Amino acid sequence: MEVRVANVAKEFGETAALRDVSLTVHPGELLALLGPSGSGKTTLLRVIAGLEAPERGQVFFGGQDATSLAVQKRQVGFVFQHYALFKHLNVGDNIAYGLRVRERARRPSKADIAQRVSDLLELVQLSGYEARFPAQLSGGQRQRVALARALAVEPRVLLLDEPFGALDAKVRKDLRRWLRDIHERTGQTTIFVTHDQDEALELADRVAVLNNGRLEQIGTPDEVQDRPQTPFVLGFLGDAARFDARIVGRQVLIGGKAVPVDIHGRGDGEAALYSRPWQLRIASPAEAHVRGVVTGIRRVGGSRRIEIQGAAKAKVEVETALSVEPAIGEEVGLEILNGYVFATD
Ligand code: ATP
Repeated sequence: MEVRVANVAKEFGETAALRDVSLTVHPGELLALLGPSGSGKTTLLRVIAGLEAPERGQVFFGGQDATSLAVQKRQVGFVFQHYALFKHLNVGDNIAYGLRVRERARRPSKADIAQRVSDLLELVQLSGYEARFPAQLSGGQRQRVALARALAVEPRVLLLDEPFGALDAKVRKDLRRWLRDIHERTGQTTIFVTHDQDEALELADRVAVLNNGRLEQIGTPDEVQDRPQTPFVLGFLGDAARFDARIVGRQVLIGGKAVPVDIHGRGDGEAALYSRPWQLRIASPAEAHVRGVVTGIRRVGGSRRIEIQGAAKAKVEVETALSVEPAIGEEVGLEILNGYVFATD
């Protein structure tokens, strides 16, 4: 089922939680809503669910205007961070709940419900756990039951709000892969809220990056990483140093020397150039665009991160080979190999 959000705005008193947000989730797609705390992710999910009414704009489910449709009529499935399973019901009854409370005409037979519960338990890899109570499960297992319960009613759209947020890092990683796998098997249109960049980039078909109630960019993990459209997206997805630059005759100049980057049709004048740690190199004075002083050295896996002050307004991080070992306090040159050009802010 396609979900389309058109020019949605939502305010809470003075706070603009969503500002003119438009996006389309394709049928069968897994879309991540990614952004820092307070950027509007949960509000957008709640507007799509029908738990929150927008001030302006519309929500379409497969071409049907669902904006004024009640939450029960939208046929959405939810999983939240602290999803309260019914404590007094065992796993099987929790999963069956949404089917059993249906009006008689739409309620499946007892045998069909039992079959569905058994299929879902197999899907979430909890076969044999049917008679356990929520208190007898780990956090990760509970979230898997919550997902089975959301899927039981065959929702048109599955909405997940930081479903693994409360779990430890290792369990989170396992569940991420597991969710991707389930998504591939069910093909369920899914919208997933997270503030964790790695989670969004690893899991999602496309990522929508929100900042301060605005949609900054929507694209595949490669698109948002390789072609960030705003400095915010660039900065949110990883370390980047900002340099003051000038565009003169289609060349980007820093410290009077050209940097080989695409100017994307920008005219002459001031610009900002952002570089990732691996787009910079410790260089000889002749090759260097800027100079600075080494203030820190860290090892990150198979490479080194050198921290340099004075080369830009803020500290700059450079990724180097392990063989490059400058001393703390040493003055070094920095060659800018590549980066992303934006207008000055
Ligand atoms: P987090 O990652 O911290 O959950 P988020 O990106 O999901 O953040 P939202 O929960 O959507 O952000 O909140 C967006 C903005 O709207 C915030 O400034 C928040 O304080 C405000 N807000 C959200 N819900 C309400 C509410 N019920 N009443 C008042 N303000 C609210």
